[in-house]
Amino acid sequence: MKKFVQMVMCVTLVFSLIGCSSGGDSSTDTSKASVKTEAKSSTTKSSKTTTSSDTAKGKGKVAVLATGGTIAGVGEAGKTAGYKPGSLSADDLLSAVPELKDVAEIEAVQVCNVNSDDITAETWLEIAKKINEMSSDPDLKGFVITHGTDTMEETAYFLNLVVKTDKPVVLTGSMRPSTSISADGPMNLYEAVCVAASDKAVGQGVLTVFSDRIFSARSVTKTSTYDVTAISAEEMGAIGIVRDGAVYMYESTAKTHTTKSEFDVSKLDKLPKVSIVYFSVDADPEILKYAAKNSEGIVIAGAGAGEFSEKWVEVIKDLKIPVVISSRIDDGVITKANLLCDNTVAADNLPPQKAAILLRLAITQKADNAKLEQLFAEY
Ligand code: ASP
Repeated sequence: MKKFVQMVMCVTLVFSLIGCSSGGDSSTDTSKASVKTEAKSSTTKSSKTTTSSDTAKGKGKVAVLATGGTIAGVGEAGKTAGYKPGSLSADDLLSAVPELKDVAEIEAVQVCNVNSDDITAETWLEIAKKINEMSSDPDLKGFVITHGTDTMEETAYFLNLVVKTDKPVVLTGSMRPSTSISADGPMNLYEAVCVAASDKAVGQGVLTVFSDRIFSARSVTKTSTYDVTAISAEEMGAIGIVRDGAVYMYESTAKTHTTKSEFDVSKLDKLPKVSIVYFSVDADPEILKYAAKNSEGIVIAGAGAGEFSEKWVEVIKDLKIPVVISSRIDDGVITKANLLCDNTVAADNLPPQKAAILLRLAITQKADNAKLEQLFAEY
């Protein structure tokens, strides 16, 4: 046991050193796959990397778009908390999984390297455009996006609505930093690449792979602050699993996505501002007035089936911007019959943070409430 701990500390130290020295665009040599870093783009620290391993050649390519998060986190050796997310580069992440050479040739793109709470709509648009552009490469089988878990579900759902490809787009990350004992990042990355390279994942919409399970972007959510199975889908469940690199798909989403979606972001460089307002006992209705003045739309995280106090009803019923009613409860659906105000639209079973994404896209189309009802039923 002592020997095992020493070994883990040793491996950990090597990764810490790689992480501290790389800064996102270094060349890293491993014995299994030689990794070469090329060009930088002007907007981000983008780097293109191609594994030149002989075994990977001919297996098709998977693009790995790295954005940061805990999977790229570095901290005190062995510890799970108190680390710095977004410290390792895409190349570092790939070097930790030499087994990838048996799955696909990897092309790595460093989109950004941040805590996922610092992801913005501009980052989403950049990733979506990059995927839409790269997907025309006939050798490319699919995409993996490494991402922090805090907002992974939001990026997944946004991409699910706007990417124009049937090729698998798979998000993954980790709950433990690369320097912790039993870090979950390498296995999650390996399994995500296996899914991205699999024909079974074609046409399934954007997916998230985490702890051996495959989730659809619309239902995936974060359910724990620490657990390695934190990325889950509660009521809707996983739609597939991965075992030793083999992909098993069991379900597919009934909702419209990707190539069938009507949303086109090719000409957008920002998204309209939508505020989420959370109801609780005695919540001040003045917050609603502030949100209405400073946003183009509002999502209410109501209690139960999207409810709130009479004081809130008095303010909401007079609002002139779109108001979508979601719930602070994780599971269940909100229907038109649940609505307390006629000028509002039900979020179906979308949580507030995903309802806000659909509302932002709907506002780009100048959707009225009738159109919003259709969109929230369809997506
Ligand atoms: N705060 C981290 C992030 O979202 C958490 C994680 O990745 O697990 O970037």
